[in-house]
Amino acid sequence: MTSTVSEDHRLLVDAVRNFARPELTPRDIEWDRNESSCCAELDPLYEMGLMSLRVPEEHGGIDCSTPCYAHIIRELAYASPSVAVTIAVHSMVCEVIQKFAGEDVRADMLPRLAEPGNLSAFAISEPDAGSDPASAKTRAVKVDGGYQLSGAKMWVTNGITGRWFVVLARLADSQSEVPDAAASASDRRRKTGDLIMLLLDAHSPGVERNIIHGKMGIRGSETAEMSLEDVFIPEQNLLGEPGWGLRIALTALDGGRIGIASQAIGIASACIDLMVSYALERVQFGRSLARFEAIQWMIADSQTELMAAQQLVDQAAWRKHQGRPFTREASMAKVYAAEAVNRIAYRAVQVHGGYGYSNEFRVEQLYRDARITSIYEGTSEVQRIVIARELLRDA
Ligand SMILES: Cc1cc2nc3c(=O)[nH]c(=O)nc-3n(C[C@H](O)[C@H](O)[C@H](O)COP(=O)(O)OP(=O)(O)OC[C@H]3O[C@@H](n4cnc5c(N)ncnc54)[C@H](O)[C@@H]3O)c2cc1C
Repeated sequence: MTSTVSEDHRLLVDAVRNFARPELTPRDIEWDRNESSCCAELDPLYEMGLMSLRVPEEHGGIDCSTPCYAHIIRELAYASPSVAVTIAVHSMVCEVIQKFAGEDVRADMLPRLAEPGNLSAFAISEPDAGSDPASAKTRAVKVDGGYQLSGAKMWVTNGITGRWFVVLARLADSQSEVPDAAASASDRRRKTGDLIMLLLDAHSPGVERNIIHGKMGIRGSETAEMSLEDVFIPEQNLLGEPGWGLRIALTALDGGRIGIASQAIGIASACIDLMVSYALERVQFGRSLARFEAIQWMIADSQTELMAAQQLVDQAAWRKHQGRPFTREASMAKVYAAEAVNRIAYRAVQVHGGYGYSNEFRVEQLYRDARITSIYEGTSEVQRIVIARELLRDA
């Protein structure tokens, strides 16, 4: 694998770093403390083009390469894990629309997605459908000129400010038809032919959204639950073909996992910098902590794991950029980076001792923020299932 980021893109990554560290870090601390949404403060990010990283240039976007995109998410996450996931989800939706929307919707939507007021969201999970999205119960009934959508979605990132949602639903003959909850798991899993993906304008009548408060971390990222009651979606907003719902969700998540792995790496990198500077500064037993071997080992292990995670992300991103299969690589990057950042954040708190347990020190928040990376866009257990399935299939 050669260098994955071009010189032009390196300048862009540097510009993001120079903006994010001074501007976003203090804001991120406020969002965490007040549990307020970063989505209200995205204007500078629109101005820098960061909301159109995955929008093609001919539609007004930046269209940076996947390796460059991954490094930008890393830089954002270093300063604000909440902003990083906000942009990662929006970028994932841009890619879904670019890849699966019809020509008219693409031409209309892609330039809009680069503009303020058009934040997007990815609504797959439901109260009873998380790791098993194929068990979605949200119903779409075919009506004249489109679909009528009813059901409930859970844990939607960007779910309050967002306007454009890709929504996984199950085609049903009528709104009263409830998918068979008693069907065996294998029956339901086989039955993915009735899953569809729709593009929803969340300003439509029948959409209700409520913020979810009380999250452990990424408290500046907006998370919502959503109920849908007889919401009309025009025919042209069907993404792909009927029956492609799960396939579109999984394709999107393959790319999304590169973003979440990069978020993990950004948090890990911030933890290591904080660990190193605190270890050099803090004196105990007449010496700086950095002189103690136990502390050096924590720093050494953390840096080694960070570099390994970055290599895995670069490889997955490079393969995606080249149009090669990257499902297994994205899952390996995601599971490794997510579990590494949890270990690294643990050590960062440990190096800070009691101060690390106080929110006066940044590592306390990063420790909480790191935790989500092994849960969303597929838990670590799900990533291992994907990796093993791919290996066993190819053997
Ligand atoms: C802050 C936040 C933001 C989110 N944002 C979004 C979003 O924007 N859009 C969206 O659609 N979803 C989103 N999610 C949902 C997220 O993707 C799910 O929480 C995740 O996929 C896990 O689903 P679950 O919570 O239902 O857990 P479950 O699926 O109930 O899993 C519980 C546990 O069982 C394990 N498990 C489940 N099945 C298996 C198996 N077959 N083998 C081994 N172990 C298994 C899991 O790994 C986990 O440890 C978000 C969640 C959070 C917390």
